[in-house]
Amino acid sequence: MTSLAIFLSMRAIGAFFLSTVLVAGVSIFISSCNDVSIPVASEVGTYDATTSGKGATLLSGDNDIYPNVVPALIDDQVYGVDYQYGSRNPSSTILFAAIHGGNIEEGTTEIASNCAGGNSSTPQHDFYSFDGIKPANNNLYDNDSLHVTATHFNENSGITRINNATKAIVLHGARNPTSSEKSAEGFGTNTKIIFVGGKDEALKSAVKAKLEEYFPQALVIIPTNQSSSYLKGYLGTSSSNFCNRTVSGKGVQLEMTWDFRKTLFTGGQLSTPAQRASQTWEMVKLAVALREAVE
Ligand SMILES: [Zn+2]
Repeated sequence: MTSLAIFLSMRAIGAFFLSTVLVAGVSIFISSCNDVSIPVASEVGTYDATTSGKGATLLSGDNDIYPNVVPALIDDQVYGVDYQYGSRNPSSTILFAAIHGGNIEEGTTEIASNCAGGNSSTPQHDFYSFDGIKPANNNLYDNDSLHVTATHFNENSGITRINNATKAIVLHGARNPTSSEKSAEGFGTNTKIIFVGGKDEALKSAVKAKLEEYFPQALVIIPTNQSSSYLKGYLGTSSSNFCNRTVSGKGVQLEMTWDFRKTLFTGGQLSTPAQRASQTWEMVKLAVALREAVE
């Protein structure tokens, strides 16, 4: 298939999403949860809830409240009220995932879903998302409290999906760089940045090339061990990073700044599921770019 043919077919898929699936993104996602397990008592270990969650001390280093999803987070938060997770599992072993999805790192679930393509009944690639579904982001115990860093993330069905994947692209949201970071890194005024991390060097290069082809206005950066400490925060090369827990032990993660993600949603609005249901042509382009890189 030529790039144009794929692009046009993705345009059709995109139009379909825009008119049906993603306009009703929340309901589709919830329906996709039917084939995954809800945490049960046996999965809830001996984590001491009195020292977690709302009374927790932030862990040093990653600012997470919980050291893991199972048992710490699920022991303290309520499935279907505070968080949810779900997957679509086709025969494809290419996985698009968001482990800080929903209202945690806004837009990442929608990107992963668009990239995976299809819908809950006709999936094309593997899709997994762990979502924050609390209504507001306004204090320490909001959706941000559901962020379990990628090296600690251990929700069972998500681990099954990544362990089954031959190639994986995991979507994350990054904050915009500060003024001093922009200056030090030579970003100029551009805050539409995608940091490409992970251990799959070949796929990282392919992803960077495709992103630069489709998003010439964005900065696409592959951090290295020689990079600044700021950039090394986006390396994603730990073997225990979720994105690298594939069959081959390597994968890719994309950390996309808020200002880049804003371009994917109508009016730059992505704070709520309803806002994220309305997407721009840029979203379709992103799905085309990443699929061309990975297929
Ligand atoms: Zn993340």
